[in-house]
Amino acid sequence: TKPATTQPGLLGRLMGRADTTGAPRRALDDDMLEQIEDLLITADMGVETASRLTAALAQGRMGSKLSSRELKQLLAQEVARIMEPVARPMPIYNKRPQVVLVVGVNGAGKTTTIGKLASQFRAAGKSVVIAAGDTFRAAAVEQLQVWGERAGVPVMTAPEGSDPASLAFDAMTRAERDGADLLMIDTAGRLQNRADLMEELAKIVRVIRKKDPDAPHNTLLVLDATTGQNALNQVQEFQKLADVSGLVMTKLDGTARGGVLVALADRFGLPIHAIGVGEQIDDLAPFDPEEFAVALTG
Ligand code: GDP
Repeated sequence: TKPATTQPGLLGRLMGRADTTGAPRRALDDDMLEQIEDLLITADMGVETASRLTAALAQGRMGSKLSSRELKQLLAQEVARIMEPVARPMPIYNKRPQVVLVVGVNGAGKTTTIGKLASQFRAAGKSVVIAAGDTFRAAAVEQLQVWGERAGVPVMTAPEGSDPASLAFDAMTRAERDGADLLMIDTAGRLQNRADLMEELAKIVRVIRKKDPDAPHNTLLVLDATTGQNALNQVQEFQKLADVSGLVMTKLDGTARGGVLVALADRFGLPIHAIGVGEQIDDLAPFDPEEFAVALTG
């Protein structure tokens, strides 16, 4: 399996890698804490989270001599402490169909994530229907059809420019008729037309609630981890548009800087259901807080 992130360790840069095997220890002082805090900010953790983490690190340890390895371990512990509560797979309910609404800006990885999730659900023996709800982007619909084929899952589409809510209703009808376990609904990501998008999402929700008042059972926000602090704004924006129940963080492979996940967890506490670690169908992994913390700080 691929690591959660291949980012070079944060403290590795500050302390140097050479001294992990017993070079001189350094006393934890204000100057060093400040450098650590700067590093955390540079790594997309945001000022608040960086200062909270640094404070936790300093707690009861000022003046004590630490090796680079000890410092990394302590920081990893503090990061893991923040991440553990949010590391939760997408809940599966005893609902048929369980409706999963997928939101996020264009390019974040919605289509890809829906394909990967559909494939995982299929592998777990569940039947899935996908609704290509971004009816204004022909390319998005085509992409989703490709993913549907790969995952062996039917994809319901509607003519370009037609009402996504009416497609959602038809998809719900089909999922009910077929006794599908899950219905995944893709949505548009035109955040620049906020009012339109809000109305569009609200209408989809209204329409599927006619069939099941508890739907959607999950509203997943897909975020591109490489957009750094921008991801924080997107959570804020989408929380105004939809009742976001969990996150999928994409593009944590390659050179992705995972620091923003710490800021997200610290600030919003939304569950991180899965992480995208590549463009292939199997490149979706559960979020492992310890592995993540060690990779981030190491
Ligand atoms: P959408 O507009 O939100 O539906 O985004 P797409 O699913 O079309 O993804 C946009 C681009 O990001 C595509 O080129 C995907 O292959 C790529 N992508 C999505 N998820 C990941 C990931 O986890 N890792 C990498 N490296 N690329 C990804």
